Amino acid sequence: MIELLSLPAFSDNYIWMVHNGHQAVVVDPGDAHVVRRALQQRRLSLVAILVTHHHPDHTGGVQGLRDLLHGPVYAPAQEHTPEPRVALNGGMALELLGQPVRVLDVPGHTAGHIAFLMEPADQDPILFCGDTLFSGGCGRLFEGTPAQMHASLSTLADLPGRTRVCCAHEYTLSNLRFASLVEPGNAALQAYQSRCVGLRERGAPTLPSTIDIERQINPFLRCGVAEVRASALAQGAAGEDPVAVLAALREWKNRA
Ligand code: ZN
Ligand code: FE
Repeated sequence: MIELLSLPAFSDNYIWMVHNGHQAVVVDPGDAHVVRRALQQRRLSLVAILVTHHHPDHTGGVQGLRDLLHGPVYAPAQEHTPEPRVALNGGMALELLGQPVRVLDVPGHTAGHIAFLMEPADQDPILFCGDTLFSGGCGRLFEGTPAQMHASLSTLADLPGRTRVCCAHEYTLSNLRFASLVEPGNAALQAYQSRCVGLRERGAPTLPSTIDIERQINPFLRCGVAEVRASALAQGAAGEDPVAVLAALREWKNRA
């Protein structure tokens, strides 16, 4: 049985951990201390580190975990991340904790960003998407183009609806405030927003989300929906196609 944990780090990061009661894998360990404490508390041995992209809030703890790591650091081939590491490209497959894991190319936030999809035999799939997809939003386009981000988000939106979406930041409430400006008529969005407000009031994470939820409420996955397109055009989108709509939404969100 695989257990999934979100370890809060810094002000709004999550370091995700999966474990089987003995061995653990962590994703994007920005802070080594947070991971050490979680491993100690549960008496787990760390057998792999997964890195989605090169930003320091995702890689800053890698070297500080080497002494207790029994296994590789897997990281995107197209980006500079702490060495030594096993370089991965989209399409590659791994086995972690006895479970199959697929590597997906999801450029946009950074040029070489990858995501990891764990597909346990008898549980819903688990997606570690770093800073590409957030609940209700998507990452800023630091290195990639709107077309790349649109293609990456489409890849993720096509995953099975029950896939658990493990984003690297707790940005949900601010994303949903923006989403409500884009789609004031989306009833599913309003219901999800009040649920997430309740979770945060209790200090609970809003994550993981699911692909099914994101398809219903995330404007960046809904660039072909009439209300989203109309809002983007009102904000000066250069065209009606999904890439132009996404570009306009992303710029609008940066200003909002
Ligand atoms: Zn980032
Ligand atoms: Fe980040």
